[in-house]
Amino acid sequence: KIRTVTSKGKSAFAKSLVIRYINPDKPMVALTYDDGPHPVNTHAILDVLEKYNATATFFVVGDRIEAYHDCLERQSALSCETGNHSYSHASLSSSSDKIVKEQISKTDKLIKKYTGQPCTVAHAPGGSEGKALRLTDKLFIRWSVDTRDWESRSSKKIISHIKSTARDGSIILMHDLYDATAKATEEIVPWLIKEGYQLVTVSELMEARGTKLKKGTVYFNGYPQ
Ligand code: ZN
Repeated sequence: KIRTVTSKGKSAFAKSLVIRYINPDKPMVALTYDDGPHPVNTHAILDVLEKYNATATFFVVGDRIEAYHDCLERQSALSCETGNHSYSHASLSSSSDKIVKEQISKTDKLIKKYTGQPCTVAHAPGGSEGKALRLTDKLFIRWSVDTRDWESRSSKKIISHIKSTARDGSIILMHDLYDATAKATEEIVPWLIKEGYQLVTVSELMEARGTKLKKGTVYFNGYPQ
């Protein structure tokens, strides 16, 4: 029943084959990072994930990808998941149908280009999926733990929020733009592992919990059924 996951990345970052084991009967959480890639903080977060053989999901903004595509290559090499967070952080509920489709498709293409894998999951800017649920094929994820790191920019507050609210199946929302978030990640990853959590991608979490993701639905957590 234990699933073995090997890294699929073919980039220069894939130094050696990474093997992880996911036990669906044991606790797990999915860390998610929005709004990147960021040339410093995304790599700082990936350093921590690599050190502990852990993964996370990065919901990236399309118009940042060409400048910082090395982040996506490394995410893929480390078996992290890269999701769609629109092209220019535009509203998917108030933009025109044409813009909404473009915001998703342009970012999908860039993710495929740099990770080598098709993008399936998405996170709408501001958590407002709106018409994108109907107009795109993305599987929309939100969160169950909101660290509000963009507001506090305090690693202490991010850490204490996660320590007091994380539970089996949590989807934890952070942003890889901030130093405080990268710093909090250094403490939170080993802490979660010590507490017995497996750190998985959102797709791995939902699959482990037997939830088949469907277009047109929004998912908030992967709590045990
Ligand atoms: Zn965002």
